[in-house]
Amino acid sequence: MQISLQHQVALITGASSGLGFGAAKALADAGAAVVINYNSHAEPAETLAAQIRDNGGKAQAIKADVSNEDEVQALFKQTVDTFGALDILLANSGLQRDAATVDMTLEDWNTVIQVNLTGQFLCARAALRQFAEQGPRPWVSRALGKIIHMSSVHQVIPWAGHANYAASKGGVDLLMRSIAQEVGAQHIRVNSIAPGAIRTAINAKVTDGEDGGRKLLELIPYGRIGEVEDVANAVVWLASDLSDYVHGTTLFIDGGMSLYPGFQNNG
Ligand code: NAD
Repeated sequence: MQISLQHQVALITGASSGLGFGAAKALADAGAAVVINYNSHAEPAETLAAQIRDNGGKAQAIKADVSNEDEVQALFKQTVDTFGALDILLANSGLQRDAATVDMTLEDWNTVIQVNLTGQFLCARAALRQFAEQGPRPWVSRALGKIIHMSSVHQVIPWAGHANYAASKGGVDLLMRSIAQEVGAQHIRVNSIAPGAIRTAINAKVTDGEDGGRKLLELIPYGRIGEVEDVANAVVWLASDLSDYVHGTTLFIDGGMSLYPGFQNNG
Protein backbone atom coordinates (compact mmCIF):
# COMPACT_ATOMS: atom_id res chain seq x y z
CA MET A 1 0.00 0.00 0.00
CA GLN A 2 1.32 3.41 -0.95
CA ILE A 3 0.88 6.09 1.73
CA SER A 4 0.50 9.63 0.42
CA LEU A 5 1.10 12.70 2.54
CA GLN A 6 0.77 15.02 -0.47
CA HIS A 7 0.02 18.67 0.42
CA GLN A 8 0.86 18.08 4.10
CA VAL A 9 3.56 19.95 5.97
CA ALA A 10 5.73 18.07 8.48
CA LEU A 11 8.17 19.51 11.00
CA ILE A 12 10.79 17.11 12.35
CA THR A 13 12.98 18.24 15.23
CA GLY A 14 16.53 16.96 15.64
CA ALA A 15 16.59 15.84 12.03
CA SER A 16 20.25 16.33 11.15
CA SER A 17 20.99 12.75 12.21
CA GLY A 18 19.58 9.36 13.15
CA LEU A 19 15.87 8.78 13.50
CA GLY A 20 14.88 12.37 12.72
CA PHE A 21 16.96 12.37 9.53
CA GLY A 22 15.44 9.04 8.43
CA ALA A 23 11.91 10.17 9.28
CA ALA A 24 12.32 13.44 7.37
CA LYS A 25 13.45 11.49 4.32
CA ALA A 26 10.55 9.03 4.60
CA LEU A 27 7.96 11.78 5.12
CA ALA A 28 9.32 13.62 2.06
CA ASP A 29 9.24 10.35 0.06
CA ALA A 30 5.54 10.10 1.00
CA GLY A 31 4.97 13.56 -0.48
CA ALA A 32 5.02 15.85 2.56
CA ALA A 33 6.82 19.18 2.56
CA VAL A 34 9.35 18.82 5.37
CA VAL A 35 11.06 21.19 7.75
CA ILE A 36 14.32 19.62 8.86
CA ASN A 37 15.16 21.14 12.21
CA TYR A 38 18.72 21.00 13.50
CA ASN A 39 20.48 22.51 16.46
CA SER A 40 24.21 22.08 15.98
CA HIS A 41 24.85 20.26 12.68
CA ALA A 42 23.64 22.36 9.75
CA GLU A 43 25.42 20.49 6.98
CA PRO A 44 23.52 17.15 6.99
CA ALA A 45 20.19 18.98 7.35
CA GLU A 46 20.96 21.40 4.50
CA THR A 47 22.21 18.53 2.30
CA LEU A 48 19.07 16.46 2.90
CA ALA A 49 16.85 19.47 2.17
CA ALA A 50 18.73 20.08 -1.09
CA GLN A 51 18.43 16.39 -2.08
CA ILE A 52 14.67 16.43 -1.46
CA ARG A 53 14.28 19.62 -3.51
CA ASP A 54 16.43 18.15 -6.32
CA ASN A 55 14.04 15.16 -6.39
CA GLY A 56 11.08 17.51 -6.85
CA GLY A 57 10.01 17.65 -3.20
CA LYS A 58 9.71 20.53 -0.76
CA ALA A 59 12.14 20.88 2.13
CA GLN A 60 13.73 23.53 4.29
CA ALA A 61 16.41 23.16 6.98
CA ILE A 62 15.85 25.45 9.97
CA LYS A 63 18.06 25.90 13.03
CA ALA A 64 16.51 25.99 16.50
CA ASP A 65 17.23 24.74 20.00
CA VAL A 66 14.03 22.96 21.08
CA SER A 67 14.68 23.74 24.73
CA ASN A 68 14.56 27.49 24.06
CA GLU A 69 11.05 28.98 24.02
CA ASP A 70 11.86 31.88 21.67
CA GLU A 71 13.72 29.64 19.22
CA VAL A 72 10.81 27.16 19.14
CA GLN A 73 8.38 29.99 18.42
CA ALA A 74 10.63 31.25 15.63
CA LEU A 75 10.95 27.70 14.21
CA PHE A 76 7.17 27.29 13.94
CA LYS A 77 6.71 30.78 12.51
CA GLN A 78 9.35 30.14 9.86
CA THR A 79 7.73 26.78 9.04
CA VAL A 80 4.36 28.39 8.41
CA ASP A 81 5.90 31.37 6.59
CA THR A 82 7.69 28.92 4.28
CA PHE A 83 5.01 26.29 3.62
CA GLY A 84 1.77 28.00 4.68
CA ALA A 85 0.61 25.48 7.30
CA LEU A 86 1.62 22.67 9.65
CA ASP A 87 -0.02 19.22 9.66
CA ILE A 88 2.52 16.90 11.31
CA LEU A 89 4.96 17.42 14.18
CA LEU A 90 7.55 14.78 14.94
CA ALA A 91 9.05 15.92 18.26
CA ASN A 92 12.19 13.84 18.00
CA SER A 93 15.11 15.77 19.49
CA GLY A 94 16.78 14.03 22.37
CA LEU A 95 20.09 13.45 24.09
CA GLN A 96 21.76 11.54 26.90
CA ARG A 97 24.11 12.68 29.68
CA ASP A 98 24.82 9.43 31.46
CA ALA A 99 26.07 9.04 35.04
CA ALA A 100 25.26 7.08 38.17
CA THR A 101 22.71 9.13 40.07
CA VAL A 102 25.13 9.61 42.95
CA ASP A 103 27.56 11.34 40.57
CA MET A 104 25.07 13.09 38.29
CA THR A 105 25.51 16.85 38.10
CA LEU A 106 22.51 19.13 38.23
CA GLU A 107 23.62 20.45 34.85
CA ASP A 108 23.43 16.97 33.29
CA TRP A 109 20.01 16.40 34.87
CA ASN A 110 18.69 19.76 33.66
CA THR A 111 20.10 19.46 30.14
CA VAL A 112 18.36 16.13 29.54
CA ILE A 113 15.04 17.24 31.03
CA GLN A 114 15.12 20.54 29.14
CA VAL A 115 15.74 18.96 25.74
CA ASN A 116 13.88 15.64 26.06
CA LEU A 117 10.86 16.80 28.04
CA THR A 118 10.54 20.60 28.05
CA GLY A 119 11.50 20.62 24.37
CA GLN A 120 8.67 18.19 23.62
CA PHE A 121 6.24 20.37 25.59
CA LEU A 122 7.32 23.57 23.81
CA CYS A 123 7.03 22.00 20.36
CA ALA A 124 3.69 20.29 21.09
CA ARG A 125 2.27 23.55 22.46
CA ALA A 126 3.40 25.47 19.38
CA ALA A 127 1.88 22.81 17.11
CA LEU A 128 -1.46 22.87 18.98
CA ARG A 129 -1.60 26.65 18.64
CA GLN A 130 -0.87 26.44 14.92
CA PHE A 131 -3.45 23.67 14.30
CA ALA A 132 -6.12 25.77 16.05
CA GLU A 133 -5.17 28.92 14.16
CA GLN A 134 -5.16 27.37 10.68
CA GLY A 135 -8.33 25.28 11.21
CA PRO A 136 -9.34 22.06 9.42
CA ARG A 137 -7.72 21.09 6.12
CA PRO A 138 -9.99 18.15 5.16
CA TRP A 139 -8.46 17.89 1.69
CA VAL A 140 -5.15 16.79 3.28
CA SER A 141 -6.19 14.86 6.43
CA ARG A 142 -9.14 13.80 8.55
CA ALA A 143 -7.31 15.14 11.61
CA LEU A 144 -6.84 18.81 12.44
CA GLY A 145 -3.19 17.91 13.04
CA LYS A 146 -0.93 15.10 14.20
CA ILE A 147 1.74 15.13 16.89
CA ILE A 148 4.18 12.25 17.27
CA HIS A 149 6.46 12.27 20.31
CA MET A 150 9.70 10.31 20.11
CA SER A 151 9.89 8.48 23.39
CA SER A 152 11.86 5.31 24.22
CA VAL A 153 11.41 1.85 25.73
CA HIS A 154 12.84 3.62 28.79
CA GLN A 155 9.48 5.26 29.35
CA VAL A 156 8.70 1.89 30.99
CA ILE A 157 12.06 0.12 31.47
CA PRO A 158 14.11 1.56 34.34
CA TRP A 159 17.71 2.31 33.32
CA ALA A 160 20.47 2.42 35.92
CA GLY A 161 23.06 5.06 35.12
CA HIS A 162 20.55 6.96 32.99
CA ALA A 163 18.02 8.24 35.55
CA ASN A 164 17.74 11.63 33.85
CA TYR A 165 17.01 10.04 30.45
CA ALA A 166 14.50 7.49 31.81
CA ALA A 167 12.76 10.21 33.84
CA SER A 168 12.50 12.41 30.75
CA LYS A 169 10.96 9.61 28.66
CA GLY A 170 8.59 8.58 31.47
CA GLY A 171 7.56 12.24 31.47
CA VAL A 172 7.02 12.18 27.72
CA ASP A 173 4.54 9.32 28.15
CA LEU A 174 2.26 11.22 30.52
CA LEU A 175 2.79 14.47 28.62
CA MET A 176 1.62 12.73 25.44
CA ARG A 177 -1.36 11.00 27.06
CA SER A 178 -2.48 14.14 28.91
CA ILE A 179 -2.34 16.23 25.75
CA ALA A 180 -4.14 13.48 23.83
CA GLN A 181 -6.94 13.43 26.40
CA GLU A 182 -7.11 17.24 26.23
CA VAL A 183 -7.28 17.74 22.46
CA GLY A 184 -8.92 14.59 21.09
CA ALA A 185 -12.27 16.37 20.75
CA GLN A 186 -10.57 18.87 18.42
CA HIS A 187 -9.52 15.97 16.18
CA ILE A 188 -5.85 16.45 16.90
CA ARG A 189 -4.14 13.07 17.09
CA VAL A 190 -1.31 12.67 19.57
CA ASN A 191 0.82 9.53 19.90
CA SER A 192 4.31 8.37 20.79
CA ILE A 193 6.85 6.03 19.29
CA ALA A 194 9.05 4.14 21.72
CA PRO A 195 12.09 2.71 19.94
CA GLY A 196 14.26 0.03 21.48
CA ALA A 197 17.84 -0.22 20.24
CA ILE A 198 18.11 1.39 16.82
CA ARG A 199 21.45 1.77 15.06
CA THR A 200 22.12 5.54 15.39
CA ALA A 201 24.81 7.77 16.88
CA ILE A 202 23.05 7.96 20.26
CA ASN A 203 23.88 4.31 20.99
CA ALA A 204 26.74 3.58 18.58
CA LYS A 205 28.91 2.51 21.54
CA VAL A 206 26.65 -0.47 22.28
CA THR A 207 25.45 -1.36 18.79
CA ASP A 208 28.90 -1.19 17.17
CA GLY A 209 31.05 -1.98 20.22
CA GLU A 210 33.77 -4.62 20.54
CA ASP A 211 31.32 -7.53 20.78
CA GLY A 212 29.39 -6.26 17.70
CA GLY A 213 26.30 -5.67 19.82
CA ARG A 214 26.03 -9.33 20.96
CA LYS A 215 25.27 -8.41 24.57
CA LEU A 216 22.58 -6.04 23.38
CA LEU A 217 21.01 -8.80 21.27
CA GLU A 218 20.32 -10.76 24.46
CA LEU A 219 17.79 -8.04 25.27
CA ILE A 220 16.00 -8.31 21.92
CA PRO A 221 13.77 -11.38 21.43
CA TYR A 222 13.43 -10.69 17.71
CA GLY A 223 17.19 -11.10 17.39
CA ARG A 224 18.34 -8.02 15.53
CA ILE A 225 19.20 -4.41 16.22
CA GLY A 226 16.69 -1.99 14.74
CA GLU A 227 17.40 0.15 11.70
CA VAL A 228 16.34 3.77 11.16
CA GLU A 229 13.84 2.66 8.50
CA ASP A 230 12.00 0.49 11.06
CA VAL A 231 11.06 3.69 12.87
CA ALA A 232 10.73 5.98 9.83
CA ASN A 233 8.12 3.69 8.24
CA ALA A 234 6.04 3.80 11.42
CA VAL A 235 6.29 7.59 11.54
CA VAL A 236 4.80 7.82 8.04
CA TRP A 237 1.94 5.48 8.99
CA LEU A 238 1.22 7.32 12.26
CA ALA A 239 1.20 10.63 10.38
CA SER A 240 -1.25 9.33 7.79
CA ASP A 241 -5.00 8.81 7.86
CA LEU A 242 -4.41 5.03 7.81
CA SER A 243 -3.93 5.40 11.56
CA ASP A 244 -6.83 7.85 12.00
CA TYR A 245 -8.29 5.95 14.98
CA VAL A 246 -4.92 5.64 16.76
CA HIS A 247 -4.83 8.27 19.49
CA GLY A 248 -3.07 8.60 22.84
CA THR A 249 -1.03 5.47 22.45
CA THR A 250 2.62 4.47 22.32
CA LEU A 251 3.85 2.28 19.50
CA PHE A 252 6.81 0.25 20.73
CA ILE A 253 9.30 -0.49 17.93
CA ASP A 254 11.78 -2.58 19.83
CA GLY A 255 11.97 -6.15 18.50
CA GLY A 256 10.34 -7.17 21.77
CA MET A 257 12.81 -5.48 24.15
CA SER A 258 9.93 -4.45 26.41
CA LEU A 259 8.80 -8.11 26.81
CA TYR A 260 11.11 -8.75 29.80
CA PRO A 261 13.38 -11.11 27.80
CA GLY A 262 15.18 -12.10 31.03
CA PHE A 263 12.13 -14.28 31.77
CA GLN A 264 12.41 -16.13 28.44
CA ASN A 265 13.92 -19.27 30.01
CA ASN A 266 11.87 -19.55 33.17
CA GLY A 267 13.17 -16.28 34.66
P1 NAD B 1 20.73 11.22 17.43
O1 NAD B 1 21.70 11.67 18.45
O2 NAD B 1 21.23 10.90 16.08
O3 NAD B 1 19.55 12.29 17.25
C1 NAD B 1 19.16 13.21 18.22
C2 NAD B 1 19.00 14.55 17.55
O4 NAD B 1 18.51 15.51 18.48
C3 NAD B 1 20.34 15.08 17.01
O5 NAD B 1 20.20 15.42 15.65
C4 NAD B 1 20.61 16.29 17.86
O6 NAD B 1 21.32 17.30 17.20
C5 NAD B 1 19.19 16.71 18.22
N1 NAD B 1 19.18 17.62 19.37
C6 NAD B 1 19.83 17.48 20.55
N2 NAD B 1 19.61 18.56 21.32
C7 NAD B 1 18.81 19.39 20.61
C8 NAD B 1 18.24 20.66 20.86
N3 NAD B 1 18.46 21.32 22.02
N4 NAD B 1 17.45 21.22 19.91
C9 NAD B 1 17.21 20.58 18.73
N5 NAD B 1 17.74 19.39 18.44
C10 NAD B 1 18.52 18.80 19.36
O7 NAD B 1 19.99 9.98 18.07
P2 NAD B 1 18.64 9.24 17.62
O8 NAD B 1 18.81 7.85 18.01
O9 NAD B 1 18.28 9.56 16.23
O10 NAD B 1 17.59 9.88 18.63
C11 NAD B 1 16.39 10.50 18.21
C12 NAD B 1 15.33 10.33 19.29
O11 NAD B 1 15.03 8.95 19.43
C13 NAD B 1 15.77 10.82 20.68
O12 NAD B 1 14.67 11.45 21.31
C14 NAD B 1 16.12 9.54 21.39
O13 NAD B 1 15.96 9.63 22.79
C15 NAD B 1 15.09 8.58 20.79
N6 NAD B 1 15.45 7.17 20.91
C16 NAD B 1 16.47 6.63 20.17
C17 NAD B 1 16.74 5.27 20.31
C18 NAD B 1 17.82 4.60 19.53
O14 NAD B 1 18.04 3.40 19.76
N7 NAD B 1 18.48 5.22 18.60
C19 NAD B 1 16.03 4.51 21.21
C20 NAD B 1 15.02 5.09 21.95
C21 NAD B 1 14.73 6.43 21.78
